[in-house]
Amino acid sequence: MKVVQELVSLITGSVTENAALAPYSTFRIGGAAKIFVEPASIDDVIKIQSFVLEHDLPLFILGNGSNILISDNGLDGVVMNLETGFNKLDYSNGIVTVGAGVKMATFVDFSIRNNRQGVEMLAGIPATIGGAVWMNAGCYGGETSDHLLNVQLIREGKYISLTKVDCGFRYRHSGFEKTDIILGARFQMGEGDSNEMREIKIKHLKHRNEVQPVNLPNCGSVFKNPKPQFSAELIETAGLKGTQIGGVQISPMHANFIVNLGNAKAQDVISLMNLARKKVFDMTGITLEPEVQLIGFKENSILPL
Ligand SMILES: Cc1cc2nc3c(=O)[nH]c(=O)nc-3n(C[C@H](O)[C@H](O)[C@H](O)COP(=O)(O)OP(=O)(O)OC[C@H]3O[C@@H](n4cnc5c(N)ncnc54)[C@H](O)[C@@H]3O)c2cc1C
Repeated sequence: MKVVQELVSLITGSVTENAALAPYSTFRIGGAAKIFVEPASIDDVIKIQSFVLEHDLPLFILGNGSNILISDNGLDGVVMNLETGFNKLDYSNGIVTVGAGVKMATFVDFSIRNNRQGVEMLAGIPATIGGAVWMNAGCYGGETSDHLLNVQLIREGKYISLTKVDCGFRYRHSGFEKTDIILGARFQMGEGDSNEMREIKIKHLKHRNEVQPVNLPNCGSVFKNPKPQFSAELIETAGLKGTQIGGVQISPMHANFIVNLGNAKAQDVISLMNLARKKVFDMTGITLEPEVQLIGFKENSILPL
């Protein structure tokens, strides 16, 4: 039986062959996934995980695609998205339970409606909860792990729940195993005033709109900040703000953002990243490391300096 048909017969969720991935990334760039799956249940996720092992296929878990650049050739394996099957929210006794496929903004609004305080500053992060937990995403003095109680996931074919201390969180990183699939998380937050929280949320969203190119598709920060320096300052000082290659441009608004001006190719982004790295290195001796995850590229896409 053809691999795709075998998968279709195995799970209750949906399976699509040659699915365009660009609409699933905030950059709106990239080729297709050979197989795109949307599991409908925990059982589906377990079956998919063992299926890819059995067939020796690569598996990529796609959240909201807000921290990735997908290659123009796409992905020659299985891409799993949890937004349809794992999108529930529940509140009980001070604890918010949230599916991995729920968007951060939805989770924040739900928490505020239930007078739960502590995540309102995170509303503008365009993540799913799965991606936010994986990356320990954060901003404006808060991060995803702050009020996290435990994470539910599939590890080596088994459903487990890990308490926060076992997730190995640090700055914008977690310590999950490479093949773990996060299904959801539980957050315990104190009580707060919902009006006050809404004001905090709006204040931060407004600030984000003022400093980030929110009207054009992008992947957030392209490079990590080489502390104590800021990548944006270094790229701006190198005179690269506004530089364009093909359909992409270093944002004239924020130099650590690359924006898609339309019909952009992933290769254009790579060329612009290589240019920024070279100019900054020649000017300062500092090596900029990518923050955005490169998916489906050859290992040597980012040129050595
Ligand atoms: C405009 C813009 C602003 C941003 N601002 C911020 C910010 O303020 N702070 C910040 O920290 N980040 C920010 N980001 C980056 C990004 O939103 C975060 O890194 C976010 O956590 C990525 O979540 P995602 O759901 O989009 O994951 P994706 O980008 O789809 O995936 C990121 C990684 O998480 C893994 N992953 C996703 N879901 C799961 C799952 N269920 N199980 C296992 N692994 C999973 C993926 O395999 C991948 O390795 C911004 C991005 C953009 C485009």
